[in-house]
Amino acid sequence: MIYLDNNATTQIHPEVVDAMLPFLHENYGNPSAGYSLGKTARRAVEHAREQVASLIDAEPNEIVFTSCGTESINTALRSATGSFPDRRHLITTTAEHSATVQPCLDLERQGYQITRVGIDETGLPNVAEFEETLDQNQPAAVASVIWANNETGVISPIDELANIAREKGILFHTDAVQAVGKIPVSVRETPVHLLSISGHKIHAPKGVGALFINRSIRFSPLIFGGGQESERRSGTENVASIVGLGKAAELAQHPSEKTCNIRDDFENHILSRFDFVSVNGDTEQRLPNTSNLHFRGLDAEAILILLDQEGVCCSPGSACSSGAKNPSAVLTAMGFDEAHAKSSVRFSFSSMNTASEVDEVLEILGRILPRIQAVMPSDDSPVSVH
Ligand code: PLP
Repeated sequence: MIYLDNNATTQIHPEVVDAMLPFLHENYGNPSAGYSLGKTARRAVEHAREQVASLIDAEPNEIVFTSCGTESINTALRSATGSFPDRRHLITTTAEHSATVQPCLDLERQGYQITRVGIDETGLPNVAEFEETLDQNQPAAVASVIWANNETGVISPIDELANIAREKGILFHTDAVQAVGKIPVSVRETPVHLLSISGHKIHAPKGVGALFINRSIRFSPLIFGGGQESERRSGTENVASIVGLGKAAELAQHPSEKTCNIRDDFENHILSRFDFVSVNGDTEQRLPNTSNLHFRGLDAEAILILLDQEGVCCSPGSACSSGAKNPSAVLTAMGFDEAHAKSSVRFSFSSMNTASEVDEVLEILGRILPRIQAVMPSDDSPVSVH
């Protein structure tokens, strides 16, 4: 099996598994308990908090553990709207993941104004439009912009956007689920107020995430109960997974260039061999692991099925929209038509992929693409294979 769907989820790193195991076996204490077993769990959670904080240049007490990236994002948006009840306006973009899109739609149903800033044909948000929106509308409770897009890997100018929001006195949240661990992220250099992280995108398990909350802002929780996480997120801590997230954050401190080299190799080979393939999205401002390719005239579903039969896993876009009838909202927002979106496949790599896997996938594509081409209805743009 060759796994090239690392933006959907990643394999848990063996060192992460090793770090977690004692907390699934003998160290099962509740971190709130006062006896030694509980204190061992507490120490492990606090160590993980330091590891996650260190990855993004935060203070440990600015990190709150959650159950996933989606919860972090929902918490950030609810906290901002709860903290500024008189600001019934939110600003976001047309490039967001459903974890942002859906809570915004819910707020819209409750009467909030939601302004969605457009993206250009390379997937980059329009900074001038963002600034105009801040100037021309009622003050927003929060502006929320994805740091790196899960489908195209395009990296938003978060520094610029966060600074604009800060100047205008607007809270700024970023969905950094795909950015953290892949590119340098520093909450001290980039002045965001809230930032969402997910464990399973960085070789930690599923079901754990974190929210950075800048120490200077007002915060109101999404989940109330026993007052864990300094009253910011109740619920007994998922100790083993939090330990896993901490270890994964430590391992991600020094991302190697290997993933980028592998992705570039793959992409360069494909682009030079098949003249009907092009890259979706900006190739400069892009995650080092993502390659979203348009196979002109070919059906992405057919490519994915044949790749799957050969043991290769990749995705038509966002894993969350896989199986959905609608074409990718992000590619559509970039101005591509339905046919373009439905001919696009996302390959996403990790440090666990190897150069020989890339060779194998290139060889497989060399066999299956002409097969698909042979059964597709002919159009006016003939496909040629070098
Ligand atoms: N944001 C982005 C950009 C994502 O890619 C994902 C997951 O696909 C999420 C948010 C949601 O994260 P989680 O699966 O941890 O809820």
